[in-house]
Amino acid sequence: MIHSNQIHSIFCCCCCALQTSSSTRVDMNTNRYEESVRTTQRSQKKLPPSPPEDDDSGVMKVVAMYDFTARESSDLTLHHGETYIILHKQDQLWWRAKDRHGSGKGEVRHYQIKQTDTTQFYLAESHVFSSVPELINYHKYNAAGLVARLRYPIGPKGQCLPATAGFSSDKWEINPSELTFMKQLGCGQFGVVRLGNWRAQHKVAIKTINEGAMSEDDFIEEAKIMMRLCHPKLVQLYGVCVSQRPICIVTEFMENGCLLHFLQQHSKTLGRVQMLFMCQDVCEGMEYLEQNNFIHRDLAARNCLVNERNVVKVCDFGMTRYVLDNQYTSSMGSRFPVKWSPPEVLHFNKFSSKSDVWSFGVLVWEVFSEGRSPFESRSNAEVVEEVTQGGRLYRPHRASGHIYNIMYRCWHEKPHGRPCFSELLQNIRQITEEETDT
Ligand code: ADP
Repeated sequence: MIHSNQIHSIFCCCCCALQTSSSTRVDMNTNRYEESVRTTQRSQKKLPPSPPEDDDSGVMKVVAMYDFTARESSDLTLHHGETYIILHKQDQLWWRAKDRHGSGKGEVRHYQIKQTDTTQFYLAESHVFSSVPELINYHKYNAAGLVARLRYPIGPKGQCLPATAGFSSDKWEINPSELTFMKQLGCGQFGVVRLGNWRAQHKVAIKTINEGAMSEDDFIEEAKIMMRLCHPKLVQLYGVCVSQRPICIVTEFMENGCLLHFLQQHSKTLGRVQMLFMCQDVCEGMEYLEQNNFIHRDLAARNCLVNERNVVKVCDFGMTRYVLDNQYTSSMGSRFPVKWSPPEVLHFNKFSSKSDVWSFGVLVWEVFSEGRSPFESRSNAEVVEEVTQGGRLYRPHRASGHIYNIMYRCWHEKPHGRPCFSELLQNIRQITEEETDT
């Protein structure tokens, strides 16, 4: 558990699923969020008593008849002859289960414990407690607005350790001889991005910077500051290799790649709650940048990445300042992100956290339109004209009225008329709570 002044953080693991067939082969269902919606309890009802810790009554146990090796990250590996506890049978084929160690693979979510004015603690506003242990104990047995119960603290199991700000406290320069380069992950504005290993044990992403693509000295100075930005919803910068050319940027590796492609590839299986979680993840990362007075300047689904647990993290923050390409940096340029930019950026190049808020609204639109391009058929010049005259994006078909309202508020003509990220985060959490409650 991490302590800060007002907000405490805990890790919890939720949602595990099993599938069984008549031959009792057991597989996993990856559509976690949908399942948890069905199992989440309503937060408005009276608090039920917490069941005793080791109460086995009513628990359904099954024995695996065959080995099964997990195929998806959310799968649970099964061993022939071992006993498993069925947590929930969401339909005939797909069941959620845990093994005797309590392992049930699934999404790890990060909940923030908040305090009321009267210094009581809560995760869901409708359930407040006078101490953190009481809160944890209650939510161990009752989802009550969370996507699922808190099952176990994951720290001691060594799973999902948060990224550190660099590999050691004062080291921003990485020795290239400690890196091994593996497959290519993609290609961006600055050059090729590869999967790599640091000291043969730590998976990283390595971005090689093409000569002439970046104002390198300015970036290297800034990198020392950027490494201090450390948040579970930001792709961590580990360091830079500058002793030879081309220079490389080493960051946290994100298994599921760029959010835009993820949305397009998984459009059929993404549920609304899952989409809300994606927006919430991004909003958490952006709230942290806002609190640190750091402006992203190019927030969009293409600049967010997805990890193996489908957590979305914000990437490439502040990087446009070091791009040496007029087509990208000038608001008149063909590669400038016009469709993600508010009027004050388009006309006066005036960036702020509130211009990031506008872009966040467009990102929410991208999420709920399953990765479509905003203002699809229109040219940049047409969009400048339309937005200046008050035109806005339409409501995507997957977005409810509440969600559209969130994006629409981000597109207020004046920066001061837009909400800040901390307010947006509260709104999104509220909607998520309502959605998981129904
Ligand atoms: P640039 O910022 O130079 O335009 P990007 O950061 O967009 O480059 O990277 C290009 C592509 O490389 C991304 O779309 C993604 O597929 C892949 N990629 C970049 N960084 C990572 C990472 N940390 N983990 C996994 N894949 C990555």
